[in-house]
Amino acid sequence: MDITGGCVCGGTRYVVNSRPFALVDCHCIDCRRSAGAPYVQWGSVRREDLVVTKGKPRKIAHADRIRSFAACCGTHLFFEDSKDSSAIDVTIASLDDPTPFAPQKTIWLEDKLPWVKIDESLPSLRRGGPASPSRRRVKLRRAKGYGAAGTNKHEFSERLTTDCADGTDLE
Ligand SMILES: [Zn+2]
Ligand SMILES: [Zn+2]
Repeated sequence: MDITGGCVCGGTRYVVNSRPFALVDCHCIDCRRSAGAPYVQWGSVRREDLVVTKGKPRKIAHADRIRSFAACCGTHLFFEDSKDSSAIDVTIASLDDPTPFAPQKTIWLEDKLPWVKIDESLPSLRRGGPASPSRRRVKLRRAKGYGAAGTNKHEFSERLTTDCADGTDLE
């Protein structure tokens, strides 16, 4: 199955070769700001199933994670836990046809803007949750108040205890 997507200007295009899973609406502050939107819907795909077919995303390291933006026009496309994480998150709204991928969960309600109305029928988490074993995960476990079970990992940079390189351009 080929599912295609890309940026607003068409200069960056990608294909995912499997159906995105772990569909979440993330209300975390970093997602909000990086997309310039009240919240962002993500879906995960295996790293090997994501192929950029045109253009070159610009990777930005922020809050110990990697966010990718279309170099041509700035559309937020991908999110990685680390450069070798097994899964990559794709912005569902950058797919050519997002309609089959309704969110299954709402995360980081703690950061939700008061005027955003969420779907009460969906499971929701006050925060996110660790996605993969990593150096960060151990540090996060130690962070006060952390421990909500979940499937995603979008923490506001100021909540982190890591010495992350904020806003570092990786390429
Ligand atoms: Zn573009
Ligand atoms: Zn987020």
